[in-house]
Parts: sequence; structure tokens; C-alpha cells
Amino acid sequence: MAKAIALFSGGLDSILAAELIRRQNIELLCVTFTTPFFNAQKALAASRRINLPLEIRDITSEHLNMLKSPRYGYGRNMNPCIDCHTLMLNIAGRIMEETSSDFMITGEVLGQRPMSQNKQSLYVVAKNSGYHDYILRPLSARLLDPIKAERENFIDRSQLLSVQGRGRKDQIRLAAEFGVKDYAPPSGGCLLTDPVFSRRLRDLLSHHQDLDVRDYELLKYGRHFRIHDHCKIIVGRNNADNEALRKLATSNDLILTMASFPGPLVLVPYGNDDNKKIASALCIRYSDAPDNIKANVLCRRNNVSETILSVGAAKEDCAKWII
Ligand code: SF4
Repeated sequence: MAKAIALFSGGLDSILAAELIRRQNIELLCVTFTTPFFNAQKALAASRRINLPLEIRDITSEHLNMLKSPRYGYGRNMNPCIDCHTLMLNIAGRIMEETSSDFMITGEVLGQRPMSQNKQSLYVVAKNSGYHDYILRPLSARLLDPIKAERENFIDRSQLLSVQGRGRKDQIRLAAEFGVKDYAPPSGGCLLTDPVFSRRLRDLLSHHQDLDVRDYELLKYGRHFRIHDHCKIIVGRNNADNEALRKLATSNDLILTMASFPGPLVLVPYGNDDNKKIASALCIRYSDAPDNIKANVLCRRNNVSETILSVGAAKEDCAKWII
């Protein structure tokens, strides 16, 4: 029996691509990837629903290297989709080799995304991945050149499809035909396509060089303020943010909380004494303390704590600093 790897996001297109190949009696292993910017939840839920095995690989290190200077640049936000696809196909190709599989499939549809799924982009990512002749796009295969597995008759090309464009009609009809009922809406799920997250990421990459995974994780929580080149302050917006920031804090950070009013947790990554005053002012600004009064803020680093008396930051300063 032939074996294939399915690059599997858990979206409808990847489910249909997998179903098309499974119906040709080919053994499938679904593969999905995680980084600080996207997770495996959708793929995990979908693979369980359609009863296919799923391997989840954390590709953070390779992805972060690529993200700093993608060969084909970024999309509308900080999404380097062409390089990201290339990397995923390359890693899927390595898994294909590790598992002695014969080829791999993706749910890509020709022309579905004008920049990253036109004929040229599909060709470029396949070629740059190093596995050009092993990548099958079952939904659009009949509009593309046959790959090795088609030429060698592992796959019946006549049962593959020629879907193209942004419409979803063909996929919805096929889902009904295959009895696929529960599927997530298309797109979503990648923080690199989010404008606010992208602004924070751009700021991070332009101010720091030796970043670790924690620095990227911090971008997900709170309000972010750039005070100067060496100082960023993060203010929790709610309990969930405060808790997440507390968990991500290290002994090198300053942590501030209100002494006697409800308020946010404020984190100054790698903060020093010079940052305490502004961080205290931001803590008061976003607390329940009445405007224009002085209030006490507890400032801690590495189990050493002190109390700072301050007033809230001015609205104009907050607007100037916010990322
Ligand atoms: S949307 Fe995100 S996960 Fe998808 S290809 Fe683009 S960068 Fe990669």
C-alpha cells in the first residue's frame, strides 16, 4: 500500500484533500506544526473527527530563523507566507523520508489566495522546499503538472480535481458528498496575519537581537508600550493577561502591582531601576485608583520589593508610547 504525508491544518480544504487520497486506498499520516504564532488545535480536532493519525511538530526554532528575514518578504502584515509554506513543505518532506512515505499532499487550491497560491507561488514553494516532484495538491491537481507518484500510477489522476479560485462552492459540495459536516471557517489562527500582533512583532525585531521564545510569547498579552529603545512595558488588560504575564516573567524582569487599589500586573522585561517610575505611572493609569491622586505601587524583581509613590501616566504619554 502506498503511503503519503498530509500537510494538515484542519481546515476544510485539507480535510477534503486527505479524503480524496484516502479514497484511493493510500495510507495517510497527517502532519501539523506549532510555533508561538499558531497551534495545532484545529488540526487535532479535525483529525479526530475524520479518524486519521496526526503528528504534531514544534517547528519554532526553524520558523523564527526564517521569520527574521524571509527571502520573499512579508504579506500585508508580518506573515511571510511564501517562506513559511516552503519551510513547512521542506519539513513535511523530511518526515516523508523518515517514514518511507511515497509523496505528500496539501489542501492548497490554485488561485485561492492571489499572492501565495497562484501558479507561480505554488511552483516556487514546491521547488524551494526541495521536494517539488513529491508534492500533490489533490484539489487542483488536474490543473498542475503530474508529480512522480501520478506518473508511476500510485495515484489515479482521473480521480483528482481541478478546483480553482476563491469560491467555496466546489468544496462545500464535496464536503456534503463525503459526509464532512463539522469544519472550521477558512483562515484565521495565525497571529502573523493580525495587524496589532504584527506591529508588536515589528517593534520587537527592530529593537532586540538576541530574542528567545518567551519574548515572542509576551507579544500575545496586555497593552505594549515602547518607552525608548531599551525599554518596553507591558500592562495586563484583565485577569487572564495578568496571569499569563506572571507565568512568563523571569527573575530579570520588573513586576509591578498596585498596593491598595485593584489594578493590572505590569511587566518590564529585563527592566532596570531607570524604568520603575514610568512603569509605576502606567500601573496607576490602568488601575482603579482615582485620577490625579498619588498611589503606592509595589515593584519587585527577583524577590526584592519596594514601594513607589507616583501619579498615573498622562493620557497623551500613553498614546505616544503605545505600540
Ligand atoms: S498565514 Fe501564517 S501559518 Fe499560514 S503560511 Fe502565512 S505565515 Fe505561515
